Amino acid sequence: MSALVCHGCGQHFDPTEVLAFACPAARPGDDVDHVLEPVLEGRSWPTGRESNPFLRHRSLTLASRLVDDAVLVGIVEELDAAVAQVDGAGFRVTPWTLCEPLGCWVKDETGNVAGSHKGRHLMGVMIYLRALEVCGRLDRRRPLAIASCGNAALAAGG
Ligand SMILES: [Zn+2]
Repeated sequence: MSALVCHGCGQHFDPTEVLAFACPAARPGDDVDHVLEPVLEGRSWPTGRESNPFLRHRSLTLASRLVDDAVLVGIVEELDAAVAQVDGAGFRVTPWTLCEPLGCWVKDETGNVAGSHKGRHLMGVMIYLRALEVCGRLDRRRPLAIASCGNAALAAGG
């Protein structure tokens, strides 16, 4: 069973009943940081070989609690194709390289969408929003806020 756990008040919520955007126990002025964190229990690490990381790790997402697997695959493929239309390529697993001078492995994220890791964060949000939309739980009247330096918010608003 997966849950959303509030970092501030410690309450647990069922992700099929409570949206991940805000803790229902938050009250104006309570001075508690009610950030919900997903806790995925009873899920094994995915062993798929899909090149798209959002397909490979889809069983670990909150969206997988909202829609069935075939629908989730369709959502990821549809969004990835839209990203590829704009950027020239969709999301793919990025390589690890052994850096001998540093004596460590380095994850090369420069081949990512827009040459940055940031797109991965918003793609996860978009998959969740699309899953909410598909199951009729997305309220488009509510504003979407992105905590970022601006370019991510502009991209999300586009
Ligand atoms: Zn809370």
